[in-house]
Amino acid sequence: MSKFVVSARKYRPATFDEVIGQDHVAKTLKNALIGDKLAHAFLFCGPRGVGKTTCARILAKVINCENKINGVDPCNECGSCKSFSDSASFNIIELDAASNNSVEAIRTLIEQVRFQPQQGSHKVFIIDEVHMLSTAAFNAFLKTLEEPPPYAIFILATTEKHKILPTILSRCQIFDFKRIQISHIIQQLEHICKAENRTAEPEALQMIAQKADGAMRDALSIFDKIASASNDNITYHEVITQLNVLDYDYFFKMTDYLLREDFSQILLTLDDVMKQGFEVDLFIQGMSEHMRNLMVCRHPETLSILEISEGAMKRYHDQSMICTNSFLLSALNLLNQCDMSLSTASNKRLYAEIALSKICYLNRALEADLIPQSAGAEKKTLIASVSQANVSNSEALQAPTSNTNTAIEEEQTPEKSRPTSLNISEDIKILVEEPTSQHTSLPSAFEALSPVEPIVEKIELIPTSEPSVSTYPISSSEATPKVSIPKSKPNATPAVKSVSSLSSLDSIMNTVKAEEQAKKEARKSMSIELVEKIWMDYFDKNESSSVKVAMKNSFRTLVGLTITVQVGSENGRNVILQEDRLKDQLREQLGAEDLILDVVVDKSLFPEVEQEKPKTLYNNREKYELMNNKNSQLSELRIRFDLKIDK
Ligand SMILES: [Zn+2]
Repeated sequence: MSKFVVSARKYRPATFDEVIGQDHVAKTLKNALIGDKLAHAFLFCGPRGVGKTTCARILAKVINCENKINGVDPCNECGSCKSFSDSASFNIIELDAASNNSVEAIRTLIEQVRFQPQQGSHKVFIIDEVHMLSTAAFNAFLKTLEEPPPYAIFILATTEKHKILPTILSRCQIFDFKRIQISHIIQQLEHICKAENRTAEPEALQMIAQKADGAMRDALSIFDKIASASNDNITYHEVITQLNVLDYDYFFKMTDYLLREDFSQILLTLDDVMKQGFEVDLFIQGMSEHMRNLMVCRHPETLSILEISEGAMKRYHDQSMICTNSFLLSALNLLNQCDMSLSTASNKRLYAEIALSKICYLNRALEADLIPQSAGAEKKTLIASVSQANVSNSEALQAPTSNTNTAIEEEQTPEKSRPTSLNISEDIKILVEEPTSQHTSLPSAFEALSPVEPIVEKIELIPTSEPSVSTYPISSSEATPKVSIPKSKPNATPAVKSVSSLSSLDSIMNTVKAEEQAKKEARKSMSIELVEKIWMDYFDKNESSSVKVAMKNSFRTLVGLTITVQVGSENGRNVILQEDRLKDQLREQLGAEDLILDVVVDKSLFPEVEQEKPKTLYNNREKYELMNNKNSQLSELRIRFDLKIDK
């Protein structure tokens, strides 16, 4: 039989000092041992695998040891210690209440309590998963628990303290075991690596510790599994493959693409993730966590709460430096909303793609938000509310800012009193999903005005009888005076800032539209002459006769972005439509990606095409003659074998 012992058993702590992450429990128990004030019943609560049974065993071993070291550590030499180490001690009795929850099981245990220990001073009864005991079993146990013989110590362990009856709780000294911190788990794993003569990448141990979720036993089980699968070196890659965890590299890549607005790569990366069998939900949650880590990384004082390895820390820090707080917060917001809606979504992938596309254009939206023209809807509201105020009262419009140097800063800050804006710090702006109908309150509109150049001076009232003058027509039916801002002072940017509404996506669309417009204008001038030239070039270089015939028998016209090709037959149409290279060359050389090649059949234009159609062969003689025309040896064959043609 194999001598392999799992790490969880091999490296089980033998003294209180070796217990990891439960210093508060170890300290109390040690003090009780030194002061000889040990209670007779304990309740150890806490998550699985954090050291409850270990502590119970150490306690049992120490109190029975004949030569305690410093009063708290077992000597490991006396008879009692040796029998404990060999798991042969009669002084420790363990009962798994999950499988022995009946009254009978408890009665058997109570029987054992009645006998004094043969060796050593105490008998320790450990009842694991004690919350699984039936009510009858609990009640049978109560009397013994309250007044046990002096040599008996009960240690009840549970992961679910709330399920324990209050009558039991009041009879026990309760210890709450904590989840073990990731850094402590890593330390222990490093220690084991050293003892086992293995090496491990820091990221690998980090990932194991994270996956263990605060339970040392889980961490060690994972470690054993991966150690047996890999050689002497445990790599991060091996760990994520074994644990089926998504490589954090994907989150870095995705964030890069989002910042670069590389939408095609975003879709491909998501596709790649899904192809590897990972759920969309997990990816979105991972992205949220990544954004959160980036945000934490931006401030040196919050670095300590980031539980990641040194190498990853550098990477996070580098990426966080190219993000703005506004971007990170808005992205987190969008990811969070996506995560919430994913549970009910029928097409999760689409939801994720929508969220990612929004984040993709986030920086643009945030920038566009600084340009007053693009903040259409918001501006209308603002101007409307300003005009509703008593404009003649100019004193009221003196902005109440004491320091004029802050004017520029204010320009980049959303107005503070807007109810929908979430203001974290002065330079942070968050895009929130919200209906656009909310009106800016009056005071906030004033607050947004520049103290140096009150915007109101630029607002002139236009009589309501002139309906079409307004630059920003106010759509609401309210009888508000319409106003316009003269554009005579181009450098005097109105100090109006607003929070975009992503649901409308207006500002983003405006910039995208403007960009597309510029692209259109920058296109090479398209002319039918150029089309003809490309057409003929392609015709000359093409070697397929059918393509040549089809191309020759056609007329081209150009209207806007559409080239209409008129051909004489359906066959010719199909041939031209199949020429993808022709389309590509036209698009490329005309500089128009969205060029349309429309091929239409007009038989009247090419009457001769119809005539060229091969004659239908009706009988065998006609067939033979056609074949003979193609290959004259056929007639020789016919003569040599003296064959006759069927009539
Ligand atoms: Zn001993």
